[in-house]
Amino acid sequence: MTQGILPPLPPLEPLKRISPSQFPIFRKCKLRAIWSSCHAQALLPLPPSARLGIIIHKILEKAGKGDITGEDSFNSLWLSCVQEEENDMSGSWMEKHLVPLEKSAHNFEVKKQQCILLVRNLMSAFSHQSGKADSSKRASHEVWLQTPDGKVGGYVDAIISTDAGDVIIDFKTGSIAESEEQASFDPEVRYDYRIQAKLYAALYNSMYGKWPASIELVGLDGVPRTIPFYQEECPCLLDEARQLLNDINFVITNKAKNYESALSNLASPNPGVCQFCLYRPCCPSYWEKRGTEPERDWPHDAKGKLKEIKKLRNGFMLIKLISDPQNSNIITVRGLHPDRHPALNKTLDEVLVFSMIPGKVTNNYGEGKLTTIYAGAD
Ligand code: SF4
Repeated sequence: MTQGILPPLPPLEPLKRISPSQFPIFRKCKLRAIWSSCHAQALLPLPPSARLGIIIHKILEKAGKGDITGEDSFNSLWLSCVQEEENDMSGSWMEKHLVPLEKSAHNFEVKKQQCILLVRNLMSAFSHQSGKADSSKRASHEVWLQTPDGKVGGYVDAIISTDAGDVIIDFKTGSIAESEEQASFDPEVRYDYRIQAKLYAALYNSMYGKWPASIELVGLDGVPRTIPFYQEECPCLLDEARQLLNDINFVITNKAKNYESALSNLASPNPGVCQFCLYRPCCPSYWEKRGTEPERDWPHDAKGKLKEIKKLRNGFMLIKLISDPQNSNIITVRGLHPDRHPALNKTLDEVLVFSMIPGKVTNNYGEGKLTTIYAGAD
């Protein structure tokens, strides 16, 4: 991908399977989930909090395998995982300004300390070789579960065998409650996480012919939250996932000649879903829908014809773009770091700006940590 130039649309390939972690995304927008499953190149930066989540997940995985034996091994693993993510970020024109994560990721140190505590709990709860832990509990980590046809499957973080039966454990590094506000007074687990957990239970049943004793989500606070499930509802979710896979592959295979129509068939543009999607820049349905329903609470993105570009005396850049065919809607974006936006060094006609920070005056925006600019492809 040429830096700052909108690349061609990613291809649509038939899918082999749906995983429980992707299933809630497939339900919200098939197109986003397909591109993400096929590892299509993300066109917007991954938020630093998500990078931190990846790091913590890797550490918990290592801890589960017994690769962390104390503080020193935790610290060296933490450093190497952070380095790995930062190397990846440094290689990306969209993310290099977010290095180091220690500065860009909210609550970096707090989350590191929470991770240390969680690892300590894991180490003391499940001894791998020493046999010091409760001998009635045995844990297996990163366990693969799938349906016999392989159409639904994924890794579960851990399965603990207890006298009462197997307990499925799923670690979550983000907020477990539906919203930050809710977390303080009503710790109900996010709907997506509950659906994912029930799908794990269904996969477990389809592999072993029995049900897990319970499913627990463990957040960074280390508190296990049991997800209640009815045995009848889990196979329905499994059927739904299988059906989704069949429907998607039908659309991709049968409409391969009409790529545009397949895209619009698979996309479900909605402000709450699109705001987390890293494929917004290239999604025709997203732009179409926000054009026909402008009153909705869409992400702070804009596209249009470049009207003005100038470098200010403070070194920052300002651009103005015309976002409507009547030439009446002019959007101003200030405070742009020239080093962050290679598109501004090119001859621009159409320009697309994502994740802006709204100013106090209508149609005036500033640059945020995740603001990204593309020049439209010729
Ligand atoms: S931008 Fe919205 S509609 Fe398009 S793929 Fe992403 S989530 Fe789906």
